Amino acid sequence: MRSRIESVWLHGNVLAQLEREADLAYPLETGGVLVGYVADNNESVVHAVIGAGPKALHARARFEPDHAWQCEQLDDLFKSSSGQWVYLGDWHTHPDGRPKMSWLDRRTLRRIAKHSGARIAHPLMLIGGGSPAAWTWAAHRGASVSRLGPRCLTEALDIRAF
Ligand SMILES: [Zn+2]
Repeated sequence: MRSRIESVWLHGNVLAQLEREADLAYPLETGGVLVGYVADNNESVVHAVIGAGPKALHARARFEPDHAWQCEQLDDLFKSSSGQWVYLGDWHTHPDGRPKMSWLDRRTLRRIAKHSGARIAHPLMLIGGGSPAAWTWAAHRGASVSRLGPRCLTEALDIRAF
């Protein structure tokens, strides 16, 4: 059992793309999918980011991704990495807000964790709060219910660039 804060590693290109997409959609919310692998020490390494997609719908405090497009992108990344890069979780913005988990974000994270198709027990949720050129990113991860109890379903992670 570990109590220290674990890390999520973001490739420099990943952070640049997240900020670009966040800027473009502002003042509306946007988001997408995080792709990479889970290292032997259990830390997530994000190598690529998929955006909301061309047919996504954006509102002030929610967005509806272009799911079919995202799946195609995920397939392409899986193939081009010889099956090494997989779905790690989701990311989205809170325009003019803080990068904290809303109750809806918690519900989404629980749903992802339960969804067998995601094949990941502890999905990531990366949230960017703020406005163009002033985003603050915070990473959260779905934790196991058995370990932390039903009232504490997420834990904050340390974000590191590489
Ligand atoms: Zn949110």
